[in-house]
Amino acid sequence: MTERIRELIEKLAEAHSLALSEYQELVEAQCPEAANLLAEKAIAVRRAIYGNAVYVRGLIEISNICRNDCLYCGIRRSNAHCERYRLSEEEILACGEEGYRLGFRTFVLQGGEDPFFTDQVLCRIVTALKTAHPDCAVTLSMGERSRESYQKLREAGADRYLLRHETADQEHYGKLHPAEMRFENRMRCLRDLRELGYQVGCGFMVGSPGQTSHTLAEDLKFIQEFKPDMCGIGPFVPHKDTPFREHSAGTLEQTCYLLSIIRLIHPPVLLPATTALGTIHPEGRELGILAGANVVMPNLSPVSVRKKYELYDNKICTGEESAQCKDCLSARVASVGYEIVTDRGDIKK
Ligand code: SAH
Repeated sequence: MTERIRELIEKLAEAHSLALSEYQELVEAQCPEAANLLAEKAIAVRRAIYGNAVYVRGLIEISNICRNDCLYCGIRRSNAHCERYRLSEEEILACGEEGYRLGFRTFVLQGGEDPFFTDQVLCRIVTALKTAHPDCAVTLSMGERSRESYQKLREAGADRYLLRHETADQEHYGKLHPAEMRFENRMRCLRDLRELGYQVGCGFMVGSPGQTSHTLAEDLKFIQEFKPDMCGIGPFVPHKDTPFREHSAGTLEQTCYLLSIIRLIHPPVLLPATTALGTIHPEGRELGILAGANVVMPNLSPVSVRKKYELYDNKICTGEESAQCKDCLSARVASVGYEIVTDRGDIKK
């Protein structure tokens, strides 16, 4: 590591911001020594805010039916090999019951952009979940919708929304998505969600096709400016039935490096150690926590559908019951000296 890079890391840890070109330099200078210094500083700022707490979110994958055709995604509409499913309202609420019993106080409903989930249907589900469990937070991750739709869902009780920006570079966005999906619309959604009072999550894949140190610098600058409440970062992992099947996966090292940088850019951010990170390395999630992540998202979906929500090849945790998933993650978190906390886990500002 050069003296210059050490200075940039010191500056980032103090000012929580760098110039676009400096972010690019930092990304390009990735090496074990720089990674260790970043992680050390990331862990220190996180400890000051959150102690050794790691928050859990129960993930319910409600549908793999999707009208979109994102080139990287295994449940894209043109994947004819994908066996489609949709959970019923009763099944979703039953996942909530089970999750509540296991101690979860945040539920994340995630799915493809399935037209079945109209505002009316989704609002009913959100309200039912909030009525049954008023002490829980409901997070939605259901893709791009109109401002009116986000507003109705917020009024129905949704607290948080996850919508990864995927890349802050418009041209790169165009390489990852079909022409009918617009970068401007993704950004409009994020702005609307913020204005409507949601806690908002953005994020991107590490190592997605066409990603460069420059596009990553743009992602970091965007995160610095937007200051999301949550930020989902995981490696890109190819799926065999997509146009990116031959592309290699993102790396553990780069993902951890970026997790540390993001923690330093926005110290209170809720940062998951993702399932994708656990998929590319057996201890990926533990290493993510040691780099600055402070959220894990065990799967609460019925075991019968887990294999079908296959965004990428070899996704882990598709065979276990929810209780096993939670116990396994608690043990993993404990193994690196952290403690699972089961309150709502709102951002500390
Ligand atoms: N339809 C929702 C949920 C998408 S799935 C939405 O649009 O937000 C959640 C995230 O999984 C996506 O935002 C994407 O970043 C990630 N993902 C999709 N395919 C992936 C792949 N092949 N490798 C790694 N992550 C992937």
